[in-house]
Amino acid sequence: MPLPAHHDEPIVAIASAPGRGAVGIVRASGRDLSALIDTVCGRTLAPRVATLLPFRTSDGSALDTGLALHFPAPHSYTGEDVLELQAHGGPVLLQLLLARCLEAMPGLRLAGPGEFTERAFLNDKMDLAQAEAVADLIDASTEAAARSAARSLGGAFSVEIDGLAAQLVELRTLVEATLDFPEEEIDFLEGARARQRLDGIEAAVARALARTRQGALLREGLRVVLAGQPNVGKSSLLNALAGAELAIVTPIPGTTRDRIGQQIQIDGVPLHITDTAGLRDAAQSTDEVERIGIERSWQAIDEADTVLFLRDLSRRGEARYDAADAAIEARLPQGLPRLEVWNKADLLTAASAAAPAETLHLSARTGEGLDTLRRALLEVAGWQAAPEGLFIARTRHVHALQRCLAHVGAAQANAALADTALDLLAEDLRLAHRALGEITGQFGTEELLGEIFGRFCIGK
Ligand code: GDP
Repeated sequence: MPLPAHHDEPIVAIASAPGRGAVGIVRASGRDLSALIDTVCGRTLAPRVATLLPFRTSDGSALDTGLALHFPAPHSYTGEDVLELQAHGGPVLLQLLLARCLEAMPGLRLAGPGEFTERAFLNDKMDLAQAEAVADLIDASTEAAARSAARSLGGAFSVEIDGLAAQLVELRTLVEATLDFPEEEIDFLEGARARQRLDGIEAAVARALARTRQGALLREGLRVVLAGQPNVGKSSLLNALAGAELAIVTPIPGTTRDRIGQQIQIDGVPLHITDTAGLRDAAQSTDEVERIGIERSWQAIDEADTVLFLRDLSRRGEARYDAADAAIEARLPQGLPRLEVWNKADLLTAASAAAPAETLHLSARTGEGLDTLRRALLEVAGWQAAPEGLFIARTRHVHALQRCLAHVGAAQANAALADTALDLLAEDLRLAHRALGEITGQFGTEELLGEIFGRFCIGK
């Protein structure tokens, strides 16, 4: 892709996480950083060798002493000249070092979110799917997601997509070559075994789509609404499901921190759980912040994939209890897939009412039935695979593969006709190929890049 003008400017940012740390990193990238290196480091640097030196202020004194690393273009993360200054990890010190860099090299400016990685993409250091994997690795909320993101970053996903694209290109070349010789059209399909090739491509795209769906699930998880009356055991169930795994689950910004909910994982698939109990309690509040919280939670519910409706088996058949359940049901969005679950199965005696068929019953206290619930949740999510060998993916990739599959399907339908129109077939194949290219960024637009890299952190 041609480089937009602002990519000519050298950029700098603090690359380490905000806050105090043992080490903090200021990183710069640009076509030629020799002026910055001379001024701040006071010497030239051997390529890719860590040099301990004082970072110099304008009056020649040392701001800090740390390691300087120069990665001359094109052998760097961005493909440009990159300078990394590793200082002590104090937030004020790092701001001063950043300001010193800006002052030391005219034209140097602060980097926007994801701008280093965007340059890596634009300079062909990685494709778009790999660049997205960088952000997904940083944001990974489960171990399985982190491993899969690392595989995608290593190119596992891109290799699969490139393999599909190569098959399409081969067939496209044949079709388009034949277009120029209309008298050969009739024999073309047989000669090139075009129909068999198309069947093979369709099967391969379908397999890739299935794996990509799994990868997207690892990244995006399943959004579950937990509904039920007070005291049916919602918190107990959440704790039981979370178990020891809770320790390695981290909140993802925007999903858990500002909503009434929690995140757990099952087999590495993140589950974002919004608790409607919190909603009801907060509904009585006049607090503005809480009201915003409620609004967001209803929004989360609207976006949810499924609702887990929890009831108390030991109270089944009580008129008032059942009426309250009906009221909750009435508030849940129509058409939202529902898992009906009865809790406190351990209290069930021969005399009490049994759980209705087609529902799950379990005990958050004893753990009975929890595995069945876990499997049911993964089934609702569409999770099939064990995470080994998976790559991370995004909904955008799933949609692109769906489009690719649809175009391949149209090509098949066309090729099956007695009087196949080769020009239409060529167009179907072109569109299928293009859909794949959107994944790797071959056919990316400025808008798409802005959307993807704008969600990165600054300095990455
Ligand atoms: P929530 O208000 O829906 O979040 O319910 P809690 O999780 O706070 O549970 C309410 C009460 O039910 C607590 O006293 C729990 O110990 C109890 N409880 C929860 N699950 C079970 C269960 O499976 N069996 C039994 N016997 N008690 C349970």
